[in-house]
Amino acid sequence: MKKPIVSKKVTLTQLEYFVVSNGYSMEDTEFVELARKKILLSKTNPNPDDTQEFMITPFKCVFCGKTFENQFPNNAAPFRDGYCCGECNRKIKLAGFDLKAELKKDIEEREKNNG
Ligand SMILES: [Zn+2]
Repeated sequence: MKKPIVSKKVTLTQLEYFVVSNGYSMEDTEFVELARKKILLSKTNPNPDDTQEFMITPFKCVFCGKTFENQFPNNAAPFRDGYCCGECNRKIKLAGFDLKAELKKDIEEREKNNG
């Protein structure tokens, strides 16, 4: 018999959502600061402290095979079909790709264009 999938609602700020859905933790202050700047610079979503309800659906990571019930899945493409956990996302998918550096570059470019 298939285990029922239980989704739950969590209320997060835009900032928290950006951070955790990218596989980072709120304790990573450098990433949190970059995320805040990135949100402030985006036109669609200007307030990082606005809260919103998000659904979390349990998923099985296609890389490590563990089931996660309390985190947002990351798309495992282009390596595999399905979803992976934040840790595997950083270790495997983002290997050789520095998201922090990308964010810094993006923020600098936007700030240049705004000024
Ligand atoms: Zn994993």
